[in-house]
Amino acid sequence: MDRNFRSILTGSFSTPCADNPTVAMIEAGFQHAGLDARYINCDVKPAHLGEAVRGALAMEWAGFNCSLPHKVAVIEYLDDMAEAARIIGAVNCVSIRNGKLIGDNTDGKGFLASLRTVIDPADKKVFLLGAGGAARAIAVELGLAGAAHITVVNVEKSHADTIAALVRDNTKCEATAQLWEGDARIPAGTDIVINATSVGFGDAEAMAAVDVNTFEKGQVVADVIPNPPTTRFLREAKKRGCTPLEGLGMLVNQGVIGVELWLGKTLDATVMKRTLSDIFNTSDAD
Ligand code: NDP
Repeated sequence: MDRNFRSILTGSFSTPCADNPTVAMIEAGFQHAGLDARYINCDVKPAHLGEAVRGALAMEWAGFNCSLPHKVAVIEYLDDMAEAARIIGAVNCVSIRNGKLIGDNTDGKGFLASLRTVIDPADKKVFLLGAGGAARAIAVELGLAGAAHITVVNVEKSHADTIAALVRDNTKCEATAQLWEGDARIPAGTDIVINATSVGFGDAEAMAAVDVNTFEKGQVVADVIPNPPTTRFLREAKKRGCTPLEGLGMLVNQGVIGVELWLGKTLDATVMKRTLSDIFNTSDAD
């Protein structure tokens, strides 16, 4: 009987990397699918990124994630980029196909896959809090998915201006920037509200400054924060009859999409979510 002792190799390059749980989530998915594949979480310093990329190529990895601080720096090593990644200007997922390195960005795609479980963003009005890397990726994917209008709200307004211009210039979606002063008021008729700031990460009581009385019943209110999954932002929205969407789903879908790009196989999202929930010491029960 033929035996095969060669595993498919994937992984992640970032620094610091020790607190990144993606490896546990993806390897649980590989195991559940019966795949002889590994995801290796590598601490790669900026000065060694080129060597790491060439190493992955030399060892015929199927692909790898690039997290902070390499999402922009990795671009110079790539042969090609997907449209959204090109518009966003950042790559967090690289596929190796026939010796060529292809860059994608799964931040926004993971968010959209999660969002689509509760609403189709086409023709919708979006209120987006934050203008960092996550907000940029989400705004571009929402624009490409046919959202009608995005208001980008940020304390440093110039960052919001940049994202709004990026969406207007590259998609059919209308986009405007707004200075974030005091408690932001959500305009009446908004369909989707998103916290894409880092406020709430690791702190169940922290909340982005929003006038909670402007949440509208029936609105979808999403958070990018994966841990804790049920942020105060989502709890306040749910109290007012909104549909909350946890950031944990965005993280799980990024894993699913990455493996689809690398191996052409769809892992079980439920198994992966359970693994992360256990790590974050939470329960899926709501
Ligand atoms: P960045 O550092 O690029 O951006 C952070 C954003 O938050 C900026 O717009 C910043 O505003 C804003 N911000 C920070 N503090 C405050 C505050 N007190 N009030 C208002 N705004 C504030 O980070 P990322 O975009 O990369 O990540 C943001 C969050 O998204 C992180 O917590 C990260 O964990 C999470 N994330 C989740 C993912 C998932 O899969 N669930 C994937 C990627 C990220 P300013 O521009 O004015 O400085």
